[in-house]
Amino acid sequence: MPTKNDVTGDSIQSKAPSKKYMDNYDRIFGKKTAVDDAADVMSGWTHECKVDGLLEVEKGEPCNWCGEKEDGTTD
Ligand SMILES: [Zn+2]
Repeated sequence: MPTKNDVTGDSIQSKAPSKKYMDNYDRIFGKKTAVDDAADVMSGWTHECKVDGLLEVEKGEPCNWCGEKEDGTTD
């Protein structure tokens, strides 16, 4: 009375969501960042602010936090 079939008896390895899956998820949907919070500012520039972290700043406008402009200068 066989208790195990050589072909199908192996336990099915579960394919739970893996790190690879999550990496792909992040690639497709994007990681949650401050930019997402500022996504309503569509035509802006991404600024890595030393005060508030990564954020989106309105085009042509300086950062509200540190005053840095898109070209990296400040007034
Ligand atoms: Zn800033």
